[in-house]
Amino acid sequence: MPSQAPRRPLPRIVIVGANFAGLAAAQHLGREYAVTVIDRSPWFEWLPNIHELLSGAKRPADLRLPRARLVAQAGHRFVRAEVTAIDARAGSLATASGREFAFDACIVAVGGVNETFGVRGVEANALSFKGVAECAEIGRRLAALAGQRGRRSVVIVGGGLEGIEALGEILRRYREVAGLEVTVVEAGPRLLSGTPPALDAAVRRHCAGHRVRFVMNTPVTAVTPRRVRLRTGEVLRADLTIWTGGVTAPPLLYDSGLANQPRKWAAVTPALRSKRFDNVFVIGDAAGLPRPLGKQAYFALQMGACAADNVRRALAGRRLRDFAPSPKPMLVAFGDLDTFLVSGRAAIASPRLAALKEAVFQVTMAQIDPPVGVPALRLTTTRLLGTAQRLVRRSR
Ligand SMILES: Cc1cc2nc3c(=O)[nH]c(=O)nc-3n(C[C@H](O)[C@H](O)[C@H](O)COP(=O)(O)OP(=O)(O)OC[C@H]3O[C@@H](n4cnc5c(N)ncnc54)[C@H](O)[C@@H]3O)c2cc1C
Repeated sequence: MPSQAPRRPLPRIVIVGANFAGLAAAQHLGREYAVTVIDRSPWFEWLPNIHELLSGAKRPADLRLPRARLVAQAGHRFVRAEVTAIDARAGSLATASGREFAFDACIVAVGGVNETFGVRGVEANALSFKGVAECAEIGRRLAALAGQRGRRSVVIVGGGLEGIEALGEILRRYREVAGLEVTVVEAGPRLLSGTPPALDAAVRRHCAGHRVRFVMNTPVTAVTPRRVRLRTGEVLRADLTIWTGGVTAPPLLYDSGLANQPRKWAAVTPALRSKRFDNVFVIGDAAGLPRPLGKQAYFALQMGACAADNVRRALAGRRLRDFAPSPKPMLVAFGDLDTFLVSGRAAIASPRLAALKEAVFQVTMAQIDPPVGVPALRLTTTRLLGTAQRLVRRSR
């Protein structure tokens, strides 16, 4: 009998982080590699609509998909773990539970962490806007406050995209509730900074007649259990503090040598390869591109596809392809009062654009989790019908 040649082991690829960027990379890699996908959480989370958890227009189940199933469908292995160290020179990484994973190529897609600007008391006394669990908790606290009597005060720190989307959802659900007031505190001179000034004016117009106050050009210096202290010395009452300070780079990037300073994104080449290590690619929010790009979900999805292709090329010794972002307009929701479509310096506003934002959500979720097979089809239908029903109910 002719002896069989021993099978060559498959090249090992480890993906750290499996939300937009990491999951897209996994879905673009075939079974000719031994791919391990690691994330600390079992759920893929659709972050661009988490503000809707505040009003109840969306529920956690609408915004989550089970990672283990999505990764298995792509033909790969999912491991739920916290990655604590990446040793690119040794080609291995370690998890909090002490497991080690060796790799020939690693794709790092760890996103960002909550930016607190070092303000005292934020982590202990404010709820952040970073994930489904946090926003669902804000939703529960708002409902509890709305059920109480007398004056209740909500403070939103940050008048950017997240803060204004949060305000819109509070107004959608609670604008008729007597005694509930909202203060938005912003360090800069404008709401929705980086978008056309007309949007700042539009938000203020919608808030006229409601109990909403804007405090501009004023950094927050401390957050205590029921108070928010401002640099001006003013102290705001806060029965609930919502912190929307944006994102900063996670410590893992610097600790692993992928970033050259703490709180910096990992520098990559135009082909998304780490500038420090040839066997590592960094994608999504975590990537510090030579020409900085907005931290947005659809760029993260595109980077995932590009990195998968480039890892294939690198392992085959072929030339890498530069990442070519294709910008898309951004949709900013303001509850049921308005939706803004922003494209560069131009913007249009109409409550009807809410349908477009909803369509982007439904279609992209169906692309990430194609409704093949009964469980996925059931999830898609529940998401579609459930959301539509609640949006109609809340808008009456
Ligand atoms: C409130 C909000 C609203 C937004 N609205 C929009 C919008 O309207 N349009 C838009 O395009 N974008 C929007 N974004 C931005 C968009 O969500 C991000 O750009 C996108 O999530 C980035 O994807 P990512 O995969 O790079 O990182 P993330 O989505 O942050 O995913 C990172 C993943 O890595 C995992 N991870 C991190 N560290 C570790 C570790 N050490 N070990 C294991 N796992 C780890 C995390 O659990 C997570 O699953 C919004 C973001 C927020 C927070």
